[in-house]
Amino acid sequence: MPGNPQEIKLVNNAIANATRRKIMNFLAEGERTAEEIGESFGKPMLDYHLKLLQQANLVEVKEGTAGLTEYGRNFLEGKPEKGEEKGADISRAKPVELTEIRQLLPCIADSTKFRTIASMTPPLGGVLKVLEPLFPRGRYSDRIGALITQKGEVITTIYATGKVTMTMVKNEGEAKEMLDSLKETINEAIAKGVAPAPREKVRVEAMEIYNYLPKTDCKDCGEQSCYTFAIKLMAGETSMDKCTPLKDSKYAVNQEHLQVLTAYI
Ligand code: SF4
Repeated sequence: MPGNPQEIKLVNNAIANATRRKIMNFLAEGERTAEEIGESFGKPMLDYHLKLLQQANLVEVKEGTAGLTEYGRNFLEGKPEKGEEKGADISRAKPVELTEIRQLLPCIADSTKFRTIASMTPPLGGVLKVLEPLFPRGRYSDRIGALITQKGEVITTIYATGKVTMTMVKNEGEAKEMLDSLKETINEAIAKGVAPAPREKVRVEAMEIYNYLPKTDCKDCGEQSCYTFAIKLMAGETSMDKCTPLKDSKYAVNQEHLQVLTAYI
């Protein structure tokens, strides 16, 4: 199963080409001989295409016959990793438009920053879950039916219904820029028509966790300091709900950030 950056690169490279994607779809119906594949997609580059698909562990070639590997089958179907629910079919998704920023309100956590609400049309529904690997810090929440991504201080939440919220943006210009980049990223994936490859895990440091804690060292969590709490949280020796001050509404944005970060521990 691809997991390291080199393997992810091989998968991305393999599926970046339309012919190779077509070959994969062709093989989804069952194993085929090289002759049969060549007749449908041309013979001159066939060895090259099959070699790249094989290197990415999407296709297995044995004695002149090619078939999808288990990973290749799961990948094509947009299936997330073992045990997870199958997402919606990205190949049927339509390119999205991100329309008007409807509100630009001061953030509760920091009045110098803004919270914005925009809308995505058409709504992506279950496809959002499949798009999670596009974002280095992104996770899909079944509970709220939304894809939550983090970039710097800004948390963007894309709901299955099409609503998009952003917290801690500097101004309308930054919000527009981030929405444009979001639209471009999503539409590129939709144009490819296959689920993005599993992402590389983003390392989370204790200091990053600490930065979003209340930093009062009140010891309510049973630890000597907020930094000790951050280290124990990283080690899985405590849980976020032990920090009771965090439940205060003034830390709502901090909580959102911590939820995104702790998903990557
Ligand atoms: S309860 Fe929260 S604020 Fe208090 S020391 Fe622990 S981590 Fe810090």
